[in-house]
Amino acid sequence: MKNNNQLKIGWLYPKLMSTYGDKGNIMVLQKRCEWRGINVEIVPIDQSTTDKELQSVDLLFGGGAQDREQEIVMENLRSKKKVIKSLIERDVPALFVCGAPQLMGNYYEPAEGKRIEGLGIFDMHTEHPGPKEDRLIGNLVAQGYSSSEEQNDESRSSRLRSNNIIVGFENHGGRTFLGKNVKPFAKVLKGFGNNGKDLTEGVMYKNAIGCYLHGPLLPKNPILADYLIKKALEIKYKKKIHLATLDDSLEEKAKSAIAQRLGIRV
Ligand code: GLN
Repeated sequence: MKNNNQLKIGWLYPKLMSTYGDKGNIMVLQKRCEWRGINVEIVPIDQSTTDKELQSVDLLFGGGAQDREQEIVMENLRSKKKVIKSLIERDVPALFVCGAPQLMGNYYEPAEGKRIEGLGIFDMHTEHPGPKEDRLIGNLVAQGYSSSEEQNDESRSSRLRSNNIIVGFENHGGRTFLGKNVKPFAKVLKGFGNNGKDLTEGVMYKNAIGCYLHGPLLPKNPILADYLIKKALEIKYKKKIHLATLDDSLEEKAKSAIAQRLGIRV
């Protein structure tokens, strides 16, 4: 399979932000593009990246990090606020996991030390209750909110897909609370999610998704990888894109097994 489509994927601070296998998300995006003949370039975004380079990405990814790394990252990320905001505002898709969305929110209050002002891309804030409080750890099963476009897609054969079940592994101290200008990414069926209280998991604004799901997320939920790839191509080439179907039967079996282990029938 070969086509002329190309994607440039920006990966935020790969050396400082990649906990619990988050790099696997990049690998899945790359592979699923390659299998369809879509050319991919992975661009690490860090201290040495110019605004022009950052401006040219078609899809953005940021993984998790511990509080100390988040502080270091933020010193540089602040200077990229304008460009990242303009990418998101022009509907470029993005996936931010755990530590990354915390920095894209209004602020993150770490376990110890000063409040970190975020980029304000997601209308939300996160507070860590302190080093002695329990972390929110474990497997999580959630139900995503599908768009009407997805609901009408008859090629989505399996019940897992049509039920929009998402699985992942969470491990965070921070508790996130959403403001009114954003929507949750999914509803918690099992696990903690944003704060262990309101059953929200993650956040969505335009085509940017923030969530607490490691594991990593995309190998376990390839439908999400395809959502990001499709959106990225559609925004870049300004036309409807149809992605060739791939065989995800093993991934679906794995997902079903973990959901059932946690008592969710799919
Ligand atoms: N430092 C953050 C927290 O504990 C993020 C952790 C992570 O990215 N895994 O809430």
